[in-house]
Amino acid sequence: MWKDKCGLFGIYTQKEEDLFHLMYLGLSALQHRGQESAGIAATDGNSMYLQKGVGLVSEALHDNEIGQRKEMAAIGHVRYSTYGASVLDNAQPLVAKYSGGVIAVAHNGNIVNADTLRERLEYAGSIFQSATDTEIIIHLLARLPGKTVEDALMSILKELKGAYSLLILTTEKLIAIRDPWGFRPLSIGRLDDKILIASESCAFDIMGAKPVREIEPGEMVIIDKEGEKSIRFAKSKEHFCTFEFVYFARPDSRLYGRDVYKVRKSLGEELAREKSIEADVVIPVPDSGTPAALGYAQASGIPFDFGIIRNRYVGRTFIQPTQFTRSLGVRIKLNPLPDIVKDKRVIIVDDSIVRGTTSRMIVKMLRDAGAREVHFRISSPPVKFPCFYGIDTPDREKLIASSSNPTDIAKFLGADSVEYLSIDGMVKAIGLPEDKVCLACFNGKYPVLE
Ligand code: AMP
Ligand code: SF4
Repeated sequence: MWKDKCGLFGIYTQKEEDLFHLMYLGLSALQHRGQESAGIAATDGNSMYLQKGVGLVSEALHDNEIGQRKEMAAIGHVRYSTYGASVLDNAQPLVAKYSGGVIAVAHNGNIVNADTLRERLEYAGSIFQSATDTEIIIHLLARLPGKTVEDALMSILKELKGAYSLLILTTEKLIAIRDPWGFRPLSIGRLDDKILIASESCAFDIMGAKPVREIEPGEMVIIDKEGEKSIRFAKSKEHFCTFEFVYFARPDSRLYGRDVYKVRKSLGEELAREKSIEADVVIPVPDSGTPAALGYAQASGIPFDFGIIRNRYVGRTFIQPTQFTRSLGVRIKLNPLPDIVKDKRVIIVDDSIVRGTTSRMIVKMLRDAGAREVHFRISSPPVKFPCFYGIDTPDREKLIASSSNPTDIAKFLGADSVEYLSIDGMVKAIGLPEDKVCLACFNGKYPVLE
């Protein structure tokens, strides 16, 4: 399966100016959404410029060329890991010439009927340059010559199933699209006379821009010299991703009308109410478990402390492509504080367990540092099913909770106990109606399949 879990940022300005530095800042604020590659496509109204590279924003993008151009609009992308090698061909935005002109596309999400669409397009003669599902959009557009790009999009979007927050750039227009389920977030902001689009509101904060609103599921926003226009291409069937709240989004973002940090703290509070146990200290797995651990400590009255320190300059271990680098990664990334955990009954809080590999090493680390008891508490329900909508979860067999119950997981981790938040508790803490959120990785009920 193709995987695209990413961050998007775009700018449209009425007067041409250097947009590179704002694009760079916006993409850096979204770096947590993807560290494999970064790219920017920009237009001055006549021609399209593309710069992309492998690695972090700071490694992939350089202002030596693009910073000297005066641009009218730009879109950018940070890409999350794929299976196998980091391939520049798969880096986005993808840019292509077609009969309607030049077009750049940046995508966050995962199109579930990509294989069928691609087969159909290949049968009809399309030759694909990359292994991403995003390229399908370009080939579908190429088959509709003579239409405006919005009209062509209106007809092709009907064929796409799954998750697609999209930014599309032509030489004159910036178009932002959110799929009818609204799996991935996408917001509009403003900075002076510039209109901004970002996956998360933290990208607006970094440049002092004002968040305006979230793009609705099933909405297409077209920005050009005439201003901003909104078209509804499908009825909203909203199923926001709960895992964005649990893990993926930055805690200082506001998503689906909720503050992510507050939600994460409430997840910890609910967990303390549901799964209490006597202990001496509550510590987080930094940084993913920090807000939930604080919520757990405050609701339970057990003191909060930092028992593990994180080296901030090593990337997220999960993102490293092989098991070997993943296991090396955790050792160089996390270091316990024996003074805090020695001879203590420790509750350690994290947002989720996926394969169990990292969590197991953390338990060992705490035991080696002298912890008397280690109780793992997870601020989300067990992840039992893979995500088909743009979060990189492994296959079902590799998800430890798909075949083991909390008692067996505790044995595997070497912990005294493992407990998870219930689905009801999670939905309550998020504060959105249950029929408006996606819970598929927890309960297997997929809102849309091929
Ligand atoms: P493990 O014990 O190996 O399952 O790893 C659990 C850690 O992975 C937790 O700290 C989570 O915050 C983190 N995690 C959960 N989902 C993802 C994901 N999709 N990508 C990267 N890390 C994740
Ligand atoms: Fe989010 Fe899980 Fe649904 Fe994927 S399956 S969209 S990770 S809630």
